Amino acid sequence: MRITPIPCLSDNYAYLLVCPETKEAAIVDVSEAGPVLAALDKGGGGSREDVKIVAVLATHHHHDHVGGNDEVVPKLGIERVYGHASDKGRIPRQTHFLEEGDTFTIGSLLVRAIHIPGHTTGAVAYVVTREPHDPVVFTGDTLFLAGCGRLFEGDPPMMHASLSKLAKLDPRTRVYCGHEYTESNLRFAAHVEPSNQAVARARTRASELRKEGKPTVPATIGDELTYNPFLRVDSPEIRKTLGIAESASGADALGAIRKAKDTFK
Ligand code: ZN
Ligand code: FE
Repeated sequence: MRITPIPCLSDNYAYLLVCPETKEAAIVDVSEAGPVLAALDKGGGGSREDVKIVAVLATHHHHDHVGGNDEVVPKLGIERVYGHASDKGRIPRQTHFLEEGDTFTIGSLLVRAIHIPGHTTGAVAYVVTREPHDPVVFTGDTLFLAGCGRLFEGDPPMMHASLSKLAKLDPRTRVYCGHEYTESNLRFAAHVEPSNQAVARARTRASELRKEGKPTVPATIGDELTYNPFLRVDSPEIRKTLGIAESASGADALGAIRKAKDTFK
């Protein structure tokens, strides 16, 4: 499978996901029409890249993830627009209403929806598999590289449960998230867990990529487990830094870490 990040707005990513065998493709999170349509144009002559866009995969209803649907879906004749069932009426042009574990295909790629409420109640991650490739997951604003989304419609137990589901994916799974927040997330990770060498290594990697103007995505679930504070709620050092009791539950610890991040400068 081939995945191309399409930078949109100030720090969003839409993604082009292509099945190389059939040339069928999907767009994950049509943030805005312009950059997405431009990414499909080749050579400036208006000829579309040699792929057929058969679906839009919306991770959640926020405007910076679906703002281009109304223009792009009819323009490209896209027949399937996926989102969570509970996002009915909130995702423009939605045609498919997913529940936990639902599967569908894009060419020969198998896509499975995981319901991951917390940032919003209808947040969905899309896990894409095609042997012999490593799986990938599109996590929207729930799991960022080295961070997690704000709790707009959910609470810490909900987010903790959702992140725990993602943490259990195959560690080789490559994570593509909705925003380029990696460097500032890693600054916070270094603040709460200063002796974690994986954080230091991830910071070096991220700053080198950003200096070259490249996206930091993807990282793997295995990588994230080593430095993402929201997947490391049991870390004694993080708990000590933020004054979280050893006896506090994972959900309570996550709530405290999220709160600290909200005000971290
Ligand atoms: Zn969002
Ligand atoms: Fe967003």
